[in-house]
Amino acid sequence: MSPPYKLAARESQPENTVIRVGECRIGGGEPVVIAGPCAVEDEEMMVKLACRLKRMGVHILRGGAYKPRTSPYSFQGLGEEGLRILARAGGTAGLPVITELLDVRQLPEVCRYADIIQIGSRNMQNFGLLREVGRVKCPVLLKRGLSATLEEWLMAAEYILAGGNRQVILCERGIRSFETYTRNTFDINAVPAIKHLSHLPLMADPSHGTGRRELVLPVSRAALAAGADGLMLEVHPCPEKAVSDGPQSLLPDELAKFMGELRATESCRTRVIA
Ligand code: PEP
Ligand code: MN
Repeated sequence: MSPPYKLAARESQPENTVIRVGECRIGGGEPVVIAGPCAVEDEEMMVKLACRLKRMGVHILRGGAYKPRTSPYSFQGLGEEGLRILARAGGTAGLPVITELLDVRQLPEVCRYADIIQIGSRNMQNFGLLREVGRVKCPVLLKRGLSATLEEWLMAAEYILAGGNRQVILCERGIRSFETYTRNTFDINAVPAIKHLSHLPLMADPSHGTGRRELVLPVSRAALAAGADGLMLEVHPCPEKAVSDGPQSLLPDELAKFMGELRATESCRTRVIA
């Protein structure tokens, strides 16, 4: 029986979808790294961090201007000013940028500043939002819902694809489980399963998938070994002062070391293939 997610299914397109963003190709074989703070905070920090990330080989800059927070009393993001800061930091460093769209009313401004639109876990089944991003030309990164099955996730991707936007990137970010030591349980099974079921590129987000800095890099290595097309990592120059998600944010030095490791692995891999 054919799967209900007709356009997202590997059956409908045996070859991998490759999405070009700036100079990088997501799903093109080489792992793509998206990194940046959870939320855009201030311009000076953002520009400095973006330049450092570019120098260490990061491909895309992240930063939330609209933050989906559990409490309405927590920092909600800088809004349009955050988008401007993110775009300026990306422009200065020479990095494309990704940011989360929370509400359809923000779509025009997010499209103006972002190179990739992020749909967060909490909105994975916001069908009105999915339909709207299905109509734009910008690539969309669709995070897995907190308790979504693989089929529900692929059906959410189907909404965007069916609307005419074929540039969909999936992102595994951990699911709810009975475990409380970690913030979420990064579903490593989902990585090879999604690559089997779908031709869409798949990113892994072990920052939200674990919620603990010391687990982020080991789980990143596991996700790449399982076939993920890249990583989305939170990084902050001073995590204890971060306005959100400090405990899961890497230090720039930790990320720089990991990027070196990744480059060495990649050059080995290309030598073996050649
Ligand atoms: C984020 O990337 O900052 C975020 C809020 O992620 P998620 O939607 O996966 O919780
Ligand atoms: Mn976060």
